[in-house]
This record gives sequence, C-alpha cells and structure tokens, in this order.
Amino acid sequence: MDAREVRDKLLEITRQDCGLTDGKHYLDMGRLGECPRKLAWEIVHGNGVTDDIKTRLYKARQMEADLQLRLTKLFGKIYSGPRTLYGLDDQVAGHTNGEINPNILVKIKSVPEDEALPNGRTPNNHYWTTQGLMHFGHFTSCIIIYESRASGRIQTYSYVYAPAIGQQCQAKAELVIKAVARGRLPDCQCGRCKERGFN
Ligand SMILES: [Zn+2]
Repeated sequence: MDAREVRDKLLEITRQDCGLTDGKHYLDMGRLGECPRKLAWEIVHGNGVTDDIKTRLYKARQMEADLQLRLTKLFGKIYSGPRTLYGLDDQVAGHTNGEINPNILVKIKSVPEDEALPNGRTPNNHYWTTQGLMHFGHFTSCIIIYESRASGRIQTYSYVYAPAIGQQCQAKAELVIKAVARGRLPDCQCGRCKERGFN
C-alpha cells in the first residue's frame, strides 16, 4: 500500500458516501423551484455529477451532520434528526435536516466561505427548497441555517409555509412526473434549457 493508493481509496470512499446519486428516476422536492424541463431531463439522463462535485458535497454533508449534532446537544428531545420525506405516491422525495417541536422544519446549508453566505435574504432557490419540503412534509414553518465552512459564521432565517407556493411545487412535480412517464420533456420555463443542452 503506497501513498497514492491510500489517496485513491480515500477519494473513492468519499465519493461513495457523498449522499448523491446520479439523480435518475427520482424527483427531489427540494428542487421544485427549478425549470421543469431540466428536472425531467435529469430524471431521464442523470445529473452529470462529477467527481469534484462529489467530494465537495461530502464536505457539505459532513458539516451538516456536525450541525445536527450541535442541535441535538442544544435542544435535546425537542429536536429530532434528519429524515426523508415522500410525496405523490413516493415519486417525489426530499431530505430534512431535522425538525424542532412543534412542527418546525430545519434545513441546513453549508457554504464554503463567508462570501457565499446570503446577503440579507435567502436565495430564491433555497426559499423554494424550504417551501417544497414544508408542502410535502406538512410543516408550518422552517428555519434555514447557513454555516460558513471557512469561518464557522452562522446565519439563520425563518419562513412560514406559503400554501400558494406549495401548490405550485406540487403542480410542477406532477407535470415533471407525467412528462417523464409519457417520454416527452415539458416546455422550458427558464429560457436556458436549449443552450444548456436539456433537449
Ligand atoms: Zn428551462
């Protein structure tokens, strides 16, 4: 066993444990703010995740697990750990980072550096992530926690479930699932699918 072999083996197990599959045959309820054509395309063709993305995701996942431990220490039984949510006959799934009694969803976003922390408000796609999870998981509110991996700085935001957005998430999920079943991609709503190759 030489140094290079150790490195290769370490990278291999890291990629295996990154928590991301190729995205095929699976619709993530946390991504329903994205273009339906792109979502359907990835279910059919995979999300093209690279080895670099996998190792980066591993670091994010590690930090999420650590924050979940701190939440357990802090809140005890009031905080219950992460779980997978399902909707639409299990055709859509999503992951929480736990919940705080009564009925508050916890979502963690680990970011690589301070510059990636939100500036004043949560990015739109993260807001939709929380709404999709609250809709299918029947949560009334959500706390989203950002942590910078470089400095340990933490920012938190809270949102309440917005039924109108939740319904839009459900409608988009149904549209994507039906389109995949029929073998026809839905129309692009982002205007960039063509240039990005989601044809
Ligand atoms: Zn599009």
